[in-house]
Parts: sequence; structure tokens; C-alpha cells
Amino acid sequence: MTSLKPVETSQVFHILKPLNSFKPEVDYSDELHIAANTYKGCPYKCTYCYIYGYIRSLYVENPSSKKLFRRRFKRDLEVLGKLNLSKHIVYISPSCEPLSSDLEKKYGNTLYALKSLREYGFINVVILTKNPSLLLKLDYLEALNRKNVQIEVSIPLLDSRFEGYAPSPYNRMDAVFDLIKEGFIVYLRVEPVIPSFGSIVGQSRNEFETLISEAKKAGVRRVISRCLLLPVGVCKTFPAFYKELKPYYKQYGYRSGTYYILDHRVRLKLIKPLYDACRSHGVELWIYSNTAFKHPTFIQADNIYLPSRDNIL
Ligand code: SF4
Repeated sequence: MTSLKPVETSQVFHILKPLNSFKPEVDYSDELHIAANTYKGCPYKCTYCYIYGYIRSLYVENPSSKKLFRRRFKRDLEVLGKLNLSKHIVYISPSCEPLSSDLEKKYGNTLYALKSLREYGFINVVILTKNPSLLLKLDYLEALNRKNVQIEVSIPLLDSRFEGYAPSPYNRMDAVFDLIKEGFIVYLRVEPVIPSFGSIVGQSRNEFETLISEAKKAGVRRVISRCLLLPVGVCKTFPAFYKELKPYYKQYGYRSGTYYILDHRVRLKLIKPLYDACRSHGVELWIYSNTAFKHPTFIQADNIYLPSRDNIL
């Protein structure tokens, strides 16, 4: 537990920002999560993406670097270091793809961030990505500390029906295999789980089964998942997807701020086939225990599905 002096968040942090509310004079336990979005916007344009709930349309079309990224990133590291927060987990990047080959070639922000984090003693790093193969390049391998870096690779589907611009799922899975062979901790994110409704085809039981079977072969031991939150902002970028699913979310869920969220029981039913696939392959499944977007906590799915088996089936 660390006791802190008052800090005006907006004056201090530009790139590295606490995910949960950062209040002055607070005792921080291990729950503080720090996020670093290395770019503005994302070139992969996944149909379901949450960032459409708050991102400016300029960055949907033209993802780019943040202003003065390098200088501000280092300044944030120095401030966080002085606040004794270097042991907390840094997430790269919850609201953009940090390893887009084009953006990294042009700006190199993520490689710079990884090197700087290591230099400043921030060793607990979680990387969220749909392009894990870039991490196999020598520069990235050298910047990563295998013991403390956790790589979370997002592969929610077996084809590109909602992820037209991202590397193929099989390319991602091959990289998962290679990263595990390199000695990294790699988790699979099967997220979001999408309901099938109208013309929208969510994941089938067979799709989950194949996905988890491939993940197991690649050496994955843990899967993380949650159901789709339907961001209202998607209606501007992908209106067909939003309009098709909205009636389902209105019938089986509720609106919370800029998202529609499914009811707890509906979410558990949708995730159940994934849970079955994980169980049959001996892979752990962890799901979000809250629906809050910015500060998620996880629970092992066995703790939910085993005791309430009769209610959920
Ligand atoms: S890769 Fe992630 S941040 Fe980028 S569009 Fe897809 S879901 Fe959104």
C-alpha cells in the first residue's frame, strides 16, 4: 500500500494514465492499472470495436501518433516513478492496436515505450494485440522481459468477418505458438463473444471448439473472455452491425452510458459453449466479473458455471 500526496491527474499524465479512478491521498493496493495507448485510433477497424464509443472520427480514418509522444511518455514515467508506482501493471494498449506494422514502421511508439518502461524499471507489462508476430522481431524481443511481460493475443473468431483489416486468426495463432516457444506468458483473448441475431453470425459452438483446440496446441493455458458491449458510437462507423444487434440488446439487456450491456444470465449463456470447449481441452477460462469497461476484474469461469450448473444450462 502506498500513500500519495494530492495529484492533479490532468496536469501530470499525458500518455500513461491510470485505468481506475486516480484519487489523491489514496492508499493504492495492487489494483491500480496504468494504461498507455501508444496511438490515436486503430487501423484494424474491427466492426465491434469499443473505441467507436468515444474516439474522434478523424482518428477512425487516420490513426496516428500522439503529439510529442516520446517526450510525454518519458515525463509520465518519471512522475509515476517518483510516486513509487513503478511496480504496478502497465497495459499497452487498451484503446488501440499497439503493434500495427505500418504505425510501428512510421512512428515506432510501442517499441520506444517498451524500451523506456524497461529502462525506468516498470517491469510488469501487459501487451494487448492482434498482431503478435511483430513481437518476434529482434528489436522487440530484446526490449521485452520474458518473466514479467504478459502478452494477451486477441483471437475471438476463426475468420475475418468482423476484423477485415487485422492479421488473419491463423497468422495470430502461429505467432502465439512461437512466442510461447520463446518463453513468454501468452493468454488468448476470445473477446468479444458476439450473439447471433438477424444477419449477424456470432461464434458457433464448433468455432469455439476449433479455436480452443488450436490454442491448446499452441501451448495456451488461459483464455480471457467477455460478451460484446454494444457501443452506441458504432452506429456511425458500422451502422448495419449496430442496427442489427440493437433490438437484441434492448430486449435482453440495458443501456449504460454509451453502451448496451446484456443481462448477466444472457452473457453466461453466450459464453457457456466457450467454457465447455475450454474445459474439454484443459484450458482455464477467465471472464470479466464486472461490466465496467475501464477497470475490469476477472473471475475463473469454474467458480460461476460449476456451482450454478442447473441454472445456466
Ligand atoms: S484491434 Fe482492437 S482497438 Fe483496433 S479496431 Fe480492433 S478491437 Fe478496436
